[in-house]
Amino acid sequence: MTDEERYSETLFKKYQEHEALCNRCGACCGMLDGDPCEHLEKTPDGLYACDIYEQRFGLRKTIKGEPVLCVPIHNVLHKTWWGRARCAYIRRV
Ligand code: SF4
Ligand code: SF4
Repeated sequence: MTDEERYSETLFKKYQEHEALCNRCGACCGMLDGDPCEHLEKTPDGLYACDIYEQRFGLRKTIKGEPVLCVPIHNVLHKTWWGRARCAYIRRV
């Protein structure tokens, strides 16, 4: 394995570890404010998932038709939003 391949593998592992921290509460997608993103779905295990996860970033809309800008979670960790206290990424900082 080359150094470049090792580096890519390490980055990918870090990405997976970061993704695994999410508890899938749905709070960052509006699950608690009464008008969630139209792409938020409840999964059979009672948690939440995005139905366009790999292409999620950009302008989306809520169930009621309000615009919502989907951004990486680290872009909003310092902001105030409904359900923020539930977020696993907030709890660890
Ligand atoms: S598009 Fe973004 S805001 Fe909408 S459910 Fe997916 S991750 Fe959440
Ligand atoms: S609020 Fe945090 S823990 Fe909950 S789904 Fe969003 S990123 Fe994951």
